[in-house]
Amino acid sequence: MKKYVGILLCISMLVTLGACGKAAAQHTDESADERVSSQAAIKVDNTEAKHQKAKKQSKNIESTEKADVPADEPNNDNTTGESKMTTTNVKDTENFYGIEFTADSDIFARIKGKSYKDDCTVPLEDLRYLHVLHVGFDGQPHEGEIICNKAIAEDLLEIFEQLYEAGYQIEKIKLVDEYNAEDEASMADNNSSCFNFRFISHTTKISNHGKGMAIDINPLYNPYIKTVNGNLNIEPANSTPYVDRTADFPHKINETDLAYQLFTAHGFSWGGAWNSSKDYQHFEK
Ligand SMILES: [Zn+2]
Repeated sequence: MKKYVGILLCISMLVTLGACGKAAAQHTDESADERVSSQAAIKVDNTEAKHQKAKKQSKNIESTEKADVPADEPNNDNTTGESKMTTTNVKDTENFYGIEFTADSDIFARIKGKSYKDDCTVPLEDLRYLHVLHVGFDGQPHEGEIICNKAIAEDLLEIFEQLYEAGYQIEKIKLVDEYNAEDEASMADNNSSCFNFRFISHTTKISNHGKGMAIDINPLYNPYIKTVNGNLNIEPANSTPYVDRTADFPHKINETDLAYQLFTAHGFSWGGAWNSSKDYQHFEK
């Protein structure tokens, strides 16, 4: 830990000297483990301008395997003049980042009346839009979009980066709004998603997905199973082949699975450990 404090101090000093971009670049050779544990890796950024730039850059990644921003490119595109926290790794900020968004943003236009329903009581400033990369079922890198609560934004960025670097396959990470915010349609398409505002049935309590505090991973292979009046209720409905958790099949989340290990290490609880029902796709904080 001392080492990181040292690195932090070093970065702070270099930033003061105006050598921020260079310093960050020099740290790109650190091992994944070191980077992940570094408390300097604050990646939630507040500027939409950055998103636009990063979006353009990340397009190139699709064809060139892994993200690799030129080491000497200064990371100083903070057009708003707001104070910005620096990460220890330029590559991370270009591909795994979060932004706050406002009611007049393009992001909000995509979710308004869908996952952000008209009766939504979660303030917009509590939500973050995350951009991540993930390895698809085709073994190739893909861009993913997540909207989550700001309280778990850092966790998700770190977890998804680790999953990506480990080659963990997640088929789709799209906003549930692309399915008109219909959970069943999103799950049936094996889409991994997080925020979708709703109250728990017959209550005024907001569900954990409604708060953006829960995420579902590869839901088709990891169904939600509950016995209702003696009948097995399975969501999504097309996940029947994956109800038997003793069977061997790919993308199965159990306690030896890397997603399980990373989410629980970050303090999330797993729906697969519930007693009254089983929600193998689900992690929440
Ligand atoms: Zn869930």
